[in-house]
Amino acid sequence: MQFKYLMPTKVFFGRGSVRENSSELASFGKKALIVTGGSSAKLSGALSDIAAALEGLGIEYSVFDKVENNPSPETVKAGGEAAKDIKADFIIGIGGGSPLDAAKGVAVLAVNDMDPMELYTNSFRNKPLPIVAVPTTAGTGSEVTPYSILTRNDLKTKMSFGNADTFPKVAFLDPAYTETMPFNVTANTAVDAFSHCLEGYLSKRSTPPSDVLAKEGISIFGSCLDALVRREIEGDTREKLLYMSMLGGFVISQTGTTVLHGMGYNLTYFKDVPHGKANGLLMAEYLKFNYPYAKEKTDNVLRLLGVETIDEFGGKLASILGEKPHITDEETEIFASITMKQRSTASNIRPVEASDIIKMMRNM
Ligand code: NAP
Ligand code: FE
Repeated sequence: MQFKYLMPTKVFFGRGSVRENSSELASFGKKALIVTGGSSAKLSGALSDIAAALEGLGIEYSVFDKVENNPSPETVKAGGEAAKDIKADFIIGIGGGSPLDAAKGVAVLAVNDMDPMELYTNSFRNKPLPIVAVPTTAGTGSEVTPYSILTRNDLKTKMSFGNADTFPKVAFLDPAYTETMPFNVTANTAVDAFSHCLEGYLSKRSTPPSDVLAKEGISIFGSCLDALVRREIEGDTREKLLYMSMLGGFVISQTGTTVLHGMGYNLTYFKDVPHGKANGLLMAEYLKFNYPYAKEKTDNVLRLLGVETIDEFGGKLASILGEKPHITDEETEIFASITMKQRSTASNIRPVEASDIIKMMRNM
């Protein structure tokens, strides 16, 4: 056995976790910049809990609420300027993966005079400001990963940056904040979280401890699958989905993702398909493609999900996720060539060629 394991984020999971552990914020300084999207921080109740915690500790704060879905380097740059303007000591990201990822970029740019495109070099002269993460979706696991995924218009895709210093220092995971998600956001983000567990488990970079976490996440997704198909998210399902998404973050922090995420970015960049849905629509084809190289693990996945076949699982995903985008043959070829350049494609358990991607995208 040979592996590395790094998870430096301090996690507080459970209802009321911000209120009960607000003293954690005291050590980061006297001024915070809150980075968030247009509405989710307020709607979910997370912003008022964080504001109350900061006020109780005498920490001043400003709110930068301009993060769009699939954030751009330009937005991160504007956030970095906002952090410099108030001389922020630390950054608090509140929201789905988009605001949490943006918060990581803001933490770097707040203390480094660099072009946001240089973020992708992962080399920062000054250490980023401490990051606190408060998720309001149960999907990306960004609260426990070092990754920040921003759009790359030069390469017409999305790409991640991040190093050991961009892991959030503290993450507060309160399932109550995810209750305001509409069904489609709940479903798309749940499938993203599952995708992290699945891809980490099937990755060339999987490790013994990441496999333990991945299998737990996969079985939790299996226990939520029927609720998602019925569109009835009740009882402890919110808590389970948030826990699974954290496990998925633990997994990809060790393994990264694979060709499935790489393919999905095309559907998001060119067809405006939400991130988790993009992965989910391609998932059955991805499982079939990898099957000859990962028979035992794929059989385990199906067993943990409580389904007999990949097609049965694909049918459930289709009913959860809804309509597929229309893609022309010409587009498929462009998507394949872009995906071949993604680092994660090289981690796929089965070696991938452009023709394989074309086939998976056509059969989707
Ligand atoms: P998102 O893009 O952050 O949010 C999607 C939508 O859901 C937004 O309109 C958002 O509103 C809304 N929303 C969020 N929480 C809500 C709540 N509690 N109630 C009601 N609405 C809510 O979605 P996401 O799927 O969580 O994040 C996707 C991004 O994360 C992508 O850019 C993806 O590439 C990235 N990602 C990152 C990692 C990582 O490791 N860092 C892993 C996978 C994916 P607002 O407009 O108010 O924000
Ligand atoms: Fe993802």
